[in-house]
Amino acid sequence: MSRLTAAAALLAALLLPAAAPAGEDPTPPPGLVIHGGAGSIDRGDLTPEEEAEYRAALEAALATGWAILEAGGSSLDAVEKTIRQLEDSPLFNAGRGAVFTADGRNELDASIMDGVSRRAGAVAGVTTLKHPISAARAVMERSKHVLLAGDGAEEFARSVGLETVPPEYFWTEKRWKALERARERERLGRAEEDETLYLGTVGAVARDRAGRIAAGTSTGGMTNKRHGRVGDSPIIGAGTYADDGCGVSSTGHGEYFIRYSVAHDVCARSRYLGIGVREAAREVIANVLGGAGGKGGVIALDRRGRPVLEFNTAGMYRGWIDEGGKPRVAVYGE
Ligand code: ASP
Repeated sequence: MSRLTAAAALLAALLLPAAAPAGEDPTPPPGLVIHGGAGSIDRGDLTPEEEAEYRAALEAALATGWAILEAGGSSLDAVEKTIRQLEDSPLFNAGRGAVFTADGRNELDASIMDGVSRRAGAVAGVTTLKHPISAARAVMERSKHVLLAGDGAEEFARSVGLETVPPEYFWTEKRWKALERARERERLGRAEEDETLYLGTVGAVARDRAGRIAAGTSTGGMTNKRHGRVGDSPIIGAGTYADDGCGVSSTGHGEYFIRYSVAHDVCARSRYLGIGVREAAREVIANVLGGAGGKGGVIALDRRGRPVLEFNTAGMYRGWIDEGGKPRVAVYGE
């Protein structure tokens, strides 16, 4: 092999997904799975109108991502556009609907990762960016860094032309009331009792026609969090992870997801143990995260783009494209 051919082969190995094993369809259809946060969402917690609103928002976001993938677009585009749409909705704890910090502000975190190249970008603690997921992608593609925080992240995002909004843009009555309830519970020493008050986040994992998997996550964090607290969502390996055969986005109590490297653990177990991504995710959520007392869930795709949705909370806002290409959404546990 000439030097040039060897270099080309090495480049292809780095930039293209691993070949399908013998006997497997080398060009499976694209895949898409999304979440809008996990928490104690029981039947009866939502009015029928509220539930319909959540379902419609999840369906619309799925439709956006799926249209990109079906038209041959990249998994990165599908993840970014799907998440931007969820960030624009006041229903979810990301972008517009972000929760409040203890001192009544909104500090947003997001990350994105491209599985084949292992490139990744993230922002933490941003307060004026309308679409933190796009800032995360810009960090990945237009800076030499992976994670930018606070003022530096905002300045960078502005310098590449991303849209900013005044902090009031993130004010919603629902989240303000949640902060007041959380403060009251903390005063009574019962802060841990109601996850719905604290949790939420949005995420997407996509596999495109070229077999490339990408994953992304965006959040306002946890209600009543201390100013400056950074959760798992912008931490690669905790809130988001992707390689050439697996992609994960997490939602839940971020401190646990960081300490147990949840997103990376799912993909690593699947790879090292030779087990399916579903089995790996089940083990990590039920036994590793659950065993430690952590609450939350993950969405994931395997090498063939098959969706995985695992959580140890009562419910998780979620959506996926099933094997027949049909969009599905769900809110409560099975
Ligand atoms: N994981 C997010 C955080 O800890 C919150 C969530 O997913 O609900 O910031």
